[in-house]
Amino acid sequence: PARGSNLLSLERVRKAFQGLVAVNDVDLSVRSGDIVALIGPNGAGKSTTFNLASGLLPLTAGTVSFDGVRIDGEAPRRIAARGMARTFQHVKVLPDMSVLDNVALGAHLRGKAGVLSATFRLDRAEEARIMADAARQIERVGLKDQMLLQAGSLALGQLRILEIARALCLDPQLLLLDEPAAGLRHFEKQQLARLLSQLRDEGMSILLVEHDMGFVMGLTDHIVVLDFGMRIAAGSPEEIRANPAVIEAYLGA
Ligand code: ADP
Ligand code: MG
Repeated sequence: PARGSNLLSLERVRKAFQGLVAVNDVDLSVRSGDIVALIGPNGAGKSTTFNLASGLLPLTAGTVSFDGVRIDGEAPRRIAARGMARTFQHVKVLPDMSVLDNVALGAHLRGKAGVLSATFRLDRAEEARIMADAARQIERVGLKDQMLLQAGSLALGQLRILEIARALCLDPQLLLLDEPAAGLRHFEKQQLARLLSQLRDEGMSILLVEHDMGFVMGLTDHIVVLDFGMRIAAGSPEEIRANPAVIEAYLGA
C-alpha cells in the first residue's frame, strides 16, 4: 500500500463479555508508514482491541479491514499471513532456548503447515532459510551479540526486542505491539523507541499499546485514547496532551 493510505481500519468494533462491554463501538485506523499509539488506563479495552484486530477474539459487532480487505472472521494465522504480526502483553519466550531459536519460531510460524510439522518435517534447505532469516532479523533489531545466549539470560528490554524480531520474521506490513515498554528501565525505553523509529524509517507501520504517555509523545504520529471501552479522544500527540478528557481519564477523576 502507498505510504499514507489506510492499512488497518477498525470501524465501530464492539466486544461484549457477557454483560461487560470491553470495547464499545471503537473506530481506529493506522495509515501506512505511521506509528499509532493506543493508550488508556488499565482495563480500558486496549488488549481486547488488539485481539479483535488480530483475529484472536470474534467481534460482537463492527468491521476490521486490512489493506482494503475485510478480515474480521478470519483465523489469526490467516491474518498474520496477510502481513499483520503481533506481540502480547506478557513476554512469551522459551527461556532455555537460544535467542536465535526463539526468533526462528516466528519464521516457522510463517510456514504453511504450522510450527509442529515445521519442526518435524522440514527439509534442510528450508531449515537453513529460516535460521538465516531469524539471524537477519536479530541483527536488524540490534541483538546480534546476544544471538546465541539463552533467552532466559536476557533483561526484559532485550526480551521485548527479541519478540519484535520474532514478529518481523513474518515479514509483516503492520506490527501490533501490546505494551512493549511496560516495566522497562529508562535507557531500555529509549533503546526501544530508537528501534521503532528505525523500523518506521524502513517502511514498517506500527500500532502499539502504551501506558506511559511520555514514551509515546516523541515517537508517535497519531494517538487514540480509550477509557471504559470507549474512544474518548484521537489526534496528534500535541492535541492529546492538551485534551481535558484525556487528562481526566488519566487522573482517574
Ligand atoms: P487493557 O488492555 O486496556 O488493560 P483489556 O482489554 O485487557 O484492557 O480489558 C478490558 C476489560 O475487559 C476489562 O474489564 C477486562 O477485565 C475485561 N476482559 C478482558 N478479557 C476478558 C475475557 N476474556 N473475559 C471477560 N472479561 C474480559
Ligand atoms: Mg492490556
